[in-house]
Amino acid sequence: MANKHVVVLGAGFVGLHAVRELAREPGVQVTLVDRNNYHLFQPLLYQVATAGLEAPQIAFPVRAFLRRHKNARFLLGSAEGVDPQAKILWVEGRPVAYDYLIVGTGTRTNDFGLPGVARYGYGLKDLDDAMKIRDRILSACEEAVRTPDPARRKALLTFVVVGGGPTGVELAGALGEVRRHVVSRDYPDLDLSELRVILVENSHRLLETFAPSSAQYAQRFLEKLGVELMLGERVVEVSPDAVRLQSGLTLPSFTVVWSAGVTGQALPGLTATKGNRIATTPELYVPDHPSIYVAGDLNYLEYRDGRPHPQVAPTAMQQGALAARNILRELYGQEKRPFQYKEKGNMATLGRSHAIAEIGNLKMRGFLAWGAWLAVHLYYLIGFRNRMMVLSNWAYSYFTYDYAVRIMHNRHSFPAPLEPVEEPVQL
Ligand SMILES: Cc1cc2nc3c(=O)[nH]c(=O)nc-3n(C[C@H](O)[C@H](O)[C@H](O)COP(=O)(O)OP(=O)(O)OC[C@H]3O[C@@H](n4cnc5c(N)ncnc54)[C@H](O)[C@@H]3O)c2cc1C
Repeated sequence: MANKHVVVLGAGFVGLHAVRELAREPGVQVTLVDRNNYHLFQPLLYQVATAGLEAPQIAFPVRAFLRRHKNARFLLGSAEGVDPQAKILWVEGRPVAYDYLIVGTGTRTNDFGLPGVARYGYGLKDLDDAMKIRDRILSACEEAVRTPDPARRKALLTFVVVGGGPTGVELAGALGEVRRHVVSRDYPDLDLSELRVILVENSHRLLETFAPSSAQYAQRFLEKLGVELMLGERVVEVSPDAVRLQSGLTLPSFTVVWSAGVTGQALPGLTATKGNRIATTPELYVPDHPSIYVAGDLNYLEYRDGRPHPQVAPTAMQQGALAARNILRELYGQEKRPFQYKEKGNMATLGRSHAIAEIGNLKMRGFLAWGAWLAVHLYYLIGFRNRMMVLSNWAYSYFTYDYAVRIMHNRHSFPAPLEPVEEPVQL
């Protein structure tokens, strides 16, 4: 087999699983490209945002991952586009020639063009987002202690999460726990009844991808935790100090986390379809460009009732591996295989000792589901050191009811008081 250059764009779940498949092949040279020098375990981002975990504990250096893969190199850089005819990927002005390209650039937060969301809302897609949310929450609590103005204090202590999918539910649950166990002890001067965690969801139920019984359980748990659920409510605008809903309600708040949707990060040079994702054949290559494969969150391949595969880690891992194997099959003159999704189930954690999990026909909830959730997340987290650190943090939080990492990296400032301050009278 002649030496072929396979470029893998994105060191997410797609990238790592593709590289693993290609690593055993002596006739293949691999270049893994990413704008960050680490692989990020996004499912635990919400715990970084709520001071449960430290950022490096859910990230793993790409170069450390590649150490064992002798035919693979890493190129740090942001890809700007692809020229399928010339078989070139453009990375920060540099051409990177490829024989095969696997694109796994995932998604970014979708603000649906709503006014103020991109500017004043906080997405939760990368480490920077999570750190900003944490700093925002801690800054808001500190500012609330200092302010004598009750209206401003209430807005500082109102945390609005938009989107009742797994990310929104997990984040709202974690904020509810922070309110109950951390703020109550760290901020004795604050009146806890003023601290509100509000979860706003457009549809009339939470967790559309779960069975109604699991979603109802989650709803009851969050309500008991003190999370206010606003179902059937649509956000129409986010301003520096409020969220406006279609029903006419305005929620004064300085902190709005937007987890209401994502959109594909398609590259210029490739034609995007619904959700800004790239349509492929069942074998995962782009129909007009058979040397380009697209996998994971960015891939658009319908499989059930005309819906594409879910944008979850198991899809990305399985598609990344299959894209690599199909390239090898082509090189060996074998027939390529279509993608067959192996469902791994659905899980979401709700708070301390509580989660919901659906695996096949089995529905678990409560402590058992929480145990399964912990085990699965530890298993898929990359790096032995990270697993140990995360496990020790979780054990610490479990036994002490405390969140380990409440360090503010950047103090946020907040707009002027809501109520106009009276000008001093000139005599
Ligand atoms: C907060 C949150 C919680 C989640 N929880 C779960 C969960 O509990 N269970 C579950 O199964 N799934 C969960 N998901 C979804 C899961 O993380 C994704 O489905 C999965 O990460 C997709 O993998 P991917 O490889 O396609 O993309 P990603 O993991 O997003 O990786 C994309 C990579 O491409 C890089 N990249 C992007 N654009 C460029 C560019 N132009 N140039 C260079 N590099 C680029 C990025 O830096 C990144 O490393 C969650 C996602 C989020 C955001």
